[in-house]
Amino acid sequence: QADIAMYHAKQAGRDNYQIFNQEMMTKSVRQFNFEQEMKKALQVDDQIHMVYQSKVDNNKAVTGLEALIRWHHPVEGLISPAEFIPLAEESNLIINIDRKVIKVVLQQLNQWQQEGFSLYPVSINLSGKHLVSDDLISFVQEQLNTYQIDGSLIEFEITEGVLLTDIERSIEAMTALKSLDITLSVDDFGTGYSSLNYLKRLPIDVLKIDRSFVDECANTIEDGQICATVINLAQNLGLEAVAEGVETAEQWQFLASKGCEIFQGYYFNKPMSAEDTELKLLSKQN
Ligand code: C2E
Ligand code: MG
Ligand code: MG
Ligand code: MG
Repeated sequence: QADIAMYHAKQAGRDNYQIFNQEMMTKSVRQFNFEQEMKKALQVDDQIHMVYQSKVDNNKAVTGLEALIRWHHPVEGLISPAEFIPLAEESNLIINIDRKVIKVVLQQLNQWQQEGFSLYPVSINLSGKHLVSDDLISFVQEQLNTYQIDGSLIEFEITEGVLLTDIERSIEAMTALKSLDITLSVDDFGTGYSSLNYLKRLPIDVLKIDRSFVDECANTIEDGQICATVINLAQNLGLEAVAEGVETAEQWQFLASKGCEIFQGYYFNKPMSAEDTELKLLSKQN
């Protein structure tokens, strides 16, 4: 056995072995740094901010916004949430991040309200860990009160996968959020494994068709049919279908022809800063 192992080690070569080790080490060092750096970022005010991307209807009229987190690290520069959210989800840090995001968004809405802007509903991405955490409901209620924001202006997007890890607890938490008038959507729909039976039991309002299907919907028959099926499913269950990641007029037209009514993607607007959102998307009440 030992001889065979030695043989394989030699075959793999010394350099490979070292690279492997170095990668392992970089990863754990990074993870360690990540937690420290993120904790710091959550305390100071200038590293984390939110950008907002519009959701539009068939006439390109804005119907809502999605808040997306941005982390500007002083040394690393801009770090994508696609990179750090999965890391944060491995620890309880994700709950701190989610709570910071909720505060920042509600504070922003409060400010816009005071400045006389009409508000659109804003979607906030919620991690599964946060959804099933003990005091989510009291935290959200307290924040809504503090910033004087109606629950009907808030939507939580929850990815499909996390809903299934603890289905009973998820239903309970979601039902409580519904009692605050909050809208609930399943994000990245089609990438998880939800059975239709679970879907029926969850108190959800919206299905967001994952970008991976939208990408090729106008060019690949299968992807087009998957999109059409999800749109039908939403309609049949009395839910709203939202197509995410729409980048071309062809995709938009295809999805609209299948009955989709709400769209989000670079074709309409990229995520933008709060200042740009105010300038380009919001209008003053009078
Ligand atoms: P998501 O919630 O599915 O958000 C959509 C992602 O697609 C965003 O990436 C958005 O910028 C990007 N996107 C929008 N339109 C297009 C398009 O037309 N083409 C392409 N290629 N991309 C488009 P982003 O901001 O990098 O966020 C990535 C993911 O990170 C989000 O996916 C969400 O799961 C997570 N995330 C972002 N912000 C937060 C947050 O505040 N809290 C939590 N828990 N997760 C967040
Ligand atoms: Mg989302
Ligand atoms: Mg999504
Ligand atoms: Mg997605």
